[in-house]
Amino acid sequence: MQQMCPRCHEQYVIKSGISNVGRYAGLVGVLVANSTASYQCPSCGKIPISEFPEEFQSNVKKKRMLSILGAVVILVLVVAFFGWQAM
Ligand SMILES: [Zn+2]
Repeated sequence: MQQMCPRCHEQYVIKSGISNVGRYAGLVGVLVANSTASYQCPSCGKIPISEFPEEFQSNVKKKRMLSILGAVVILVLVVAFFGWQAM
């Protein structure tokens, strides 16, 4: 999803904050990082979600919900799997 910077309207924003956490924490880490990721413009720097258009904001919120749900589902599956093995 490409989104123009709401400040300069010249560049596309980049999602930041995923690679570092994801590298160490695996899939759950990626999902969690995805839910807290911020957006950055190459020329204006970090842009708070509240500065983006309403449509983009609700889209991001939806994605965050899905990411958190995904992380929870994976955690439950992992716990269920190891719990089943321990029996
Ligand atoms: Zn900008």
